[in-house]
Amino acid sequence: MLNRYRIKCLFMGFLCLTFFSAYADELPPFTQAVAENVYSFGDPSKGYFSMFVVTSRGVIVMETVNTPHAEAMLAAIQQITDKPVRFALHSHNHWDHAAGGQVFQDVGAKTVAHIEAYRWMKDNPHPDMALPNRYWKGSRKNIRLGDTTIELHYLGMNHGLGMTVFILPKQRIAYIADLVTPNRVLFTIVPDFNIGPFVESLKKIEQLNFDHAIYSHSHANVFEPKIWVTQTREFIEDVQQAITEEFQRGTPFTQIPQTIDLPQYRDWAMYYEWLPLNVWRIMLDGVMGPFPWQPDHRYKKAFPGVLHRHHH
Ligand SMILES: [Zn+2]
Repeated sequence: MLNRYRIKCLFMGFLCLTFFSAYADELPPFTQAVAENVYSFGDPSKGYFSMFVVTSRGVIVMETVNTPHAEAMLAAIQQITDKPVRFALHSHNHWDHAAGGQVFQDVGAKTVAHIEAYRWMKDNPHPDMALPNRYWKGSRKNIRLGDTTIELHYLGMNHGLGMTVFILPKQRIAYIADLVTPNRVLFTIVPDFNIGPFVESLKKIEQLNFDHAIYSHSHANVFEPKIWVTQTREFIEDVQQAITEEFQRGTPFTQIPQTIDLPQYRDWAMYYEWLPLNVWRIMLDGVMGPFPWQPDHRYKKAFPGVLHRHHH
């Protein structure tokens, strides 16, 4: 299957080179136009993809990643437009996504994270990560710039802190980091994902108004349909079901990760390498209870120095 996929990629690559080289030449390296004024940016060999939108009053960037990525993206933006970058929006707290913000602060942009991500970033500095100069609270916010609105959706605990899904409602395009990676099983040991709320968040994302998304890591194309959200949820539910069946069968706990096979997903990248790790993580969550965990929206109504009465 891998070979067939490679041949398909080569063939598609050839077609693209043949028919679209004139268009491709006009765009900076690693930049792809996915809709009018909407672009993806990322070096496929490094595996991180951002999105940027050129509005009538400036540019909005989603995901700074790190300084080399941010500098290359800024250079690409400046080749496409002379409008200033007004906003750089962070999806969540993790160092491997949220670094590089200084590049955009240096050109006068507001860098923005959800308060939960902001507080983590404040307490867990990284030499390449600038503290955002704006944060937002709650579960919804719109950012308007000129002719463009971006919806910010905080869907609760799912991965990291303050995880934000971005929607361009007019274009029906989303930017989704880490929660969905098309054509690949879950990442290694499923780090800092809270399995139950993760599934609930995927159901909420399935209800949001978009048709396609730029996914921060994709093992298909950068710009892929919404269906991968559903497929990711179904994959987790299929793993959970398979674990339950192995328990019922009496398979020893430590053998379950090597025992489970889900043939319908064998084509997905890292299936053989990471499926056992995925199973370990999901199985432990089922045995120990949800982790990591924190009370949801704990900052929403909290004021410093105020003790809140406990309600039954
Ligand atoms: Zn992450």
